[in-house]
Amino acid sequence: EEKRLYSPAYVKKILSKHGFKFSKSLGQNFLMDGNIVRKIADAGEITPDDYVIEIGPGIGTLTEELALRAKKVVAIEIDNTLLPILDETIGKYKNVEIVHEDVLKVDMEKLINEKLNGGPVKVVANLPYYVTTPIIGKLIEDNLNLDAIIVMVQKEVAERMESGPGGKEYGSLSIFVNFYSKPKIIVKVPKTVFMPQPKIDSAVIKLDIKKELPDVDKEKFFKVVKASFSKRRKTLVNALSTYGFDIAKEDIKNTLKTLNIDENIRAESLSVEDFIKISKTLPPLDI
Ligand code: SAM
Repeated sequence: EEKRLYSPAYVKKILSKHGFKFSKSLGQNFLMDGNIVRKIADAGEITPDDYVIEIGPGIGTLTEELALRAKKVVAIEIDNTLLPILDETIGKYKNVEIVHEDVLKVDMEKLINEKLNGGPVKVVANLPYYVTTPIIGKLIEDNLNLDAIIVMVQKEVAERMESGPGGKEYGSLSIFVNFYSKPKIIVKVPKTVFMPQPKIDSAVIKLDIKKELPDVDKEKFFKVVKASFSKRRKTLVNALSTYGFDIAKEDIKNTLKTLNIDENIRAESLSVEDFIKISKTLPPLDI
């Protein structure tokens, strides 16, 4: 137990041996809690059949737990000063491959095909906060062979992702995530379990990727969602009719009437399914 990578004494020793300096801009806050590490791997239900991508292994804390459970782990790390440390901490695990790259620039499909048998893949990460939205967008939208994404993110972001209609945090991020997956917050994580300690609390969220997407014109759907939330306080009719689509108020009202939706409804009360129906019923958009 003492030598596992979440033992603070061991971590301090390794970091000072390699003269490592934390980079704030790379979002380096390393996990120091074996319980949370195990909960993340448990949430992913990682078994010896699983192919895993880890984003940002740091010194390998979570990587080690994944290596012990999965068939193969590919860990993508941007910081070259971590490479000798990773070699020392997890070099002994033959089912781990470190890829020294910026995750935002990686061709994921190629990586999955070449290194992970084509998938399906589980993505696991304690994400640097600055890449959260772009990376989740990239993973989800690119039609990759993914089973699930299990990530540590800012608590507020996790709440926005999981939120449903009527909730204060509900918005276009909730719709985006719920369109492609079934989100579930696994555990809230206090800032005290990281080194160095960040200013904000975190949460682990699991996104179970849908095998089949709703039958709708995606481009039109997301345009409607974006326009609908662009003016949160306005009714849907007003938000859509003033957004810049060449669409008459009457057409929007008729759409809502056809669907039995109150004409004074606001975006925040509408579910993903409602937005799907609305975008299917609206006339073509001019943008
Ligand atoms: N997984 C480790 C843990 O839980 O202790 C480290 C997590 S730390 C929050 C984020 C990690 O992502 C750091 O190791 C950082 O260097 C790495 N990272 C930051 N930006 C990255 C990027 N664009 N591509 C790949 N890795 C990145």
